[in-house]
Amino acid sequence: MASGKIIIAIDGYSSTGKSTFAKLVAKGLGYIYADSGALYRAVTYFAFTNGFIDTEGAIDKDNLQKVLPKIEISFKTNKKGESVTCLNDSNIEKYIRTSKISSNVSRIAELPFVRDFVNVMLRRMGQDKGLVMDGRDIGTAVFPNAELKIFMTATEQVRAMRRFKELQAKGEKDTFESVLEGLKKRDYIDTHRSTDPLTKAKDAIELDNSSMTLEEEIEWINRILLPNFNLQVELR
Ligand code: C5P
Repeated sequence: MASGKIIIAIDGYSSTGKSTFAKLVAKGLGYIYADSGALYRAVTYFAFTNGFIDTEGAIDKDNLQKVLPKIEISFKTNKKGESVTCLNDSNIEKYIRTSKISSNVSRIAELPFVRDFVNVMLRRMGQDKGLVMDGRDIGTAVFPNAELKIFMTATEQVRAMRRFKELQAKGEKDTFESVLEGLKKRDYIDTHRSTDPLTKAKDAIELDNSSMTLEEEIEWINRILLPNFNLQVELR
């Protein structure tokens, strides 16, 4: 039986509950949690607020590529103990989860120079292991040697409903149909881009949580996967 700290890579489609699951697993193991999508969202936010995406949605790739190395994106802990995304030291967490960012992030994330920029930051976080990271290419490209890889799926309807409810709770006005449409578009771009498209790593274990509760997901990882590493998620 293996022991010691490991890297857990959690990949999957949008709104499969990756981050909720990954956060709970990290907390229960005393590991660091890293949300790779937040970095792509932060770059998208930066591109919008600095004029690298025009009103028609066209991206000024050349100039974005030139300035990207000069910006700093980091995760900091706020007063409530939550991890928040910062751009050049300003907390931008609440600006990166809007529909505008969600509908444009995949076009930014498909640019190879953006992926290179983000990957350097992601790999740095894994230097000491003890990390749970979620995203689209963590098990295939960022940490191909991660000790444990999970690929999360759920039906489109279930995922769109989850996203719709999240947006409603935030007071956003999107309809269920527009959320479903946006989700399909994002899935398409994420699975068809030429650099590191979303795909299940050969050695990833699939978790279809269409009809599972979060508690059932934790029970599943504790029973099926973590005993191999002498680890258990403690829910407190
Ligand atoms: O996980 P989240 O929905 O916040 O990710 C936002 C977007 O960032 C995804 O739709 C995808 O286009 C991109 N992404 C990616 N690779 C990752 C994580 C996210 O391309 N590892």
